[in-house]
Amino acid sequence: MAEVEGRAILLRRIPYSDTSLVCHFLTEEHGRIALMARGARRVKSPFRGALAPLYALNIRWRMGRTGMGTLVDIERGARLLDEMYDLDGLELCAVASGLFQDGDPHGYAELTESLQVMRDRPIDSSLYSGVWRLLELSGWVSGFEHCWVCGSEVDASLPMVWHEGHLACSSCGSGIAISAGMRKGITAHLSQSNVRLGKQELSSWRKMIQDVLRQHGVRPLSSISQEYS
Ligand SMILES: [Zn+2]
Repeated sequence: MAEVEGRAILLRRIPYSDTSLVCHFLTEEHGRIALMARGARRVKSPFRGALAPLYALNIRWRMGRTGMGTLVDIERGARLLDEMYDLDGLELCAVASGLFQDGDPHGYAELTESLQVMRDRPIDSSLYSGVWRLLELSGWVSGFEHCWVCGSEVDASLPMVWHEGHLACSSCGSGIAISAGMRKGITAHLSQSNVRLGKQELSSWRKMIQDVLRQHGVRPLSSISQEYS
């Protein structure tokens, strides 16, 4: 069977038999794949230390004749996030795992870019920035300058509303008010790394994200990250 090599990020590890792991990766060229890492849980396995999330990985695998391929070699490169962002990074990977299912050709570029956004944001908003970018790149959310329902631009001085996973102008819906200040704050925050958001804005932003994830059947963010909001 042909061997393939490429850059990858580890999404999930699931124990298989007494000694092995089934590993889900987002790969640069082949999208999301699941591979059997034989013996990876043995103390002396070369896979053991290298199979870590939030690292740039280079993996080599053998395609399966039918079904799952086999991991042949793995090389661990640089960390993708500073250690203090680890919990947020794992949460982002969990969201990516819900968004990009096995066989999806996308995901690697999207997760890489979202991790980059997360990397230089303040700790209290890094998760939301990263998840928002991931949702944006997946086409589930859009910008704060226009109505997602009718598409018209909304003047920056006007409030908008949040309704079932969508940001809408006042003629397109009713729902939770999203103030002009909030629209401006998040827009600035997403484009510049040094903009801090207030508690109120963070808590509303979190609700919006949870709402979008729920609408699309993805597990909402866990409570680990709630301590910031
Ligand atoms: Zn509208």
